[in-house]
Amino acid sequence: MKILMIASEMDGIIKTGGLADFALALPKALMARGHDIRVILPSYKQAVLKTDMMSMPTDSLSFNLNHTDHYGCLVYHTALDGIAVRIVEHNDFFNREGIYDNGSYAYPDNPLRYTFLCKAAIELCLHEQWIPDIVHCNDWQTAITPYYLKEHYSHYPELKHIRSLLTIHNGAYQGKVVPEWIHPLGIPPQHFTSELMEEHGLLNLLKCGIMYSDAINAVSPGYCEELLMPETSHNLWRYLNKRRSDFTGILNGCDYRQWNPSTDPFLPHPFSANNMAGKLLCKAALQSRMGLLANPDVPILGLIARLVDQKGFDYLIPALEKLLYEDPPVQIVLLGSGDPEYGSRLHFLQKRYPQKMGFVNGYDNELSHLIEAGSDYFMMPSLFEPCGLNQLYSLAYGTLPIVRETGGLKDTVMGLAPDHGNAPPSWTSASKNKKFATGISFIQPDNQGCYWALKQAITLYLDYPQVYHKMQQQAMRQLFTWEESAGMYEILFENLLKKPI
Ligand code: ADP
Repeated sequence: MKILMIASEMDGIIKTGGLADFALALPKALMARGHDIRVILPSYKQAVLKTDMMSMPTDSLSFNLNHTDHYGCLVYHTALDGIAVRIVEHNDFFNREGIYDNGSYAYPDNPLRYTFLCKAAIELCLHEQWIPDIVHCNDWQTAITPYYLKEHYSHYPELKHIRSLLTIHNGAYQGKVVPEWIHPLGIPPQHFTSELMEEHGLLNLLKCGIMYSDAINAVSPGYCEELLMPETSHNLWRYLNKRRSDFTGILNGCDYRQWNPSTDPFLPHPFSANNMAGKLLCKAALQSRMGLLANPDVPILGLIARLVDQKGFDYLIPALEKLLYEDPPVQIVLLGSGDPEYGSRLHFLQKRYPQKMGFVNGYDNELSHLIEAGSDYFMMPSLFEPCGLNQLYSLAYGTLPIVRETGGLKDTVMGLAPDHGNAPPSWTSASKNKKFATGISFIQPDNQGCYWALKQAITLYLDYPQVYHKMQQQAMRQLFTWEESAGMYEILFENLLKKPI
């Protein structure tokens, strides 16, 4: 199959979160299955390949987004891990200090920037005469592509057979903008309806993608279920229920080439399920790196995340405050960037408990590997989590995840049953599922639920070391491969191509 993936980020070139990992790992796995795949993304100022671009083959495109506005751009050809990549350069749109925002606010012309990318993607296919069978769009930024294919390019016979998939990585971001954008984006008023893309007077680009794509998927079965229910769907449930028969959940994988503790080049010492000695050395290195006391007996609770409310900081921070105040033997290690408000609250806490807590406010890939390796637990108390990657890395590194039972977290971590009290950990939910627990889970997204889970983790570590080590071994045996995910995408694509036009 020929597959075109359109994405706003791709690991190795530009990354702010899990979408970037997806846009590299899935194409790699599909390519390994023999598919001809290309990825197209914007040429941001921060793109890693920027300096080499001048020597790359280039296409020049020019096209209209609407009846009056004409645009031109250059498209660089490159390759990443063998995947053909096309990078769209337009100085006004992409040569900026930020990717999606200026540090405080989303760029107001984001709808134009990203719909421009979508149109460029289709124009490039025509220009190169490389016509995909599948166009794979990701999140609101690229969700308008199926609309363009069906409404702007319906008179191109060579594009007629293309089938489109929209993957929802995070339904909280929908690209909702004022209706004044419909003209610049080339949307005539008759398409701006509540059936298709209008919502409470606004243009909703994710909704447009949901209504026009041939199929839609969420990045885990758990999130797929949540997106169909009013309380947990970010208000998307009506649209997705309309498309119920075309909507599925496919779990993301973990790139074990990058996230394998026995080969990880960022670790001072390798380790594996059969030889855990190196993990203790990583723990010592992490304590030293974060300015914490070197003590192998104290559990370290780690976290790496974008500092946004989705990740549960509104109840995690109070739970950590209470925990640190009570002073059990514990150390906290945090790495994250994002909302300055969360950043300053965490800095404040770190200043108050410098011996017990380390916090790096920033983005640091190398440190993220050391945190995964050197921590004993990984905190992921998310309010919602479409799939989540860090809990998969944590399982592989024998760092038991502490998760809220939501989305992809509940699909991938088998939590201890919440027994709400000081009783020793029970195995109720784990044994019910005939599996051994691989982490600690809680349900209520509040201070108490989160605090309970953190306490449970500390008790388990200090008082039930044999159980902890057994869980660690079980966690390290879990496998969530991209090969498996790619197999499921392949079936989805094949079924799409079988559907009559
Ligand atoms: P999301 O996509 O919602 O941000 P995921 O868990 O799916 O969350 O993916 C986040 C990815 O970004 C992981 O690979 C994680 O390690 C990485 N990441 C997030 N914040 C940082 C940071 N501050 N430094 C290094 N890596 C980070």
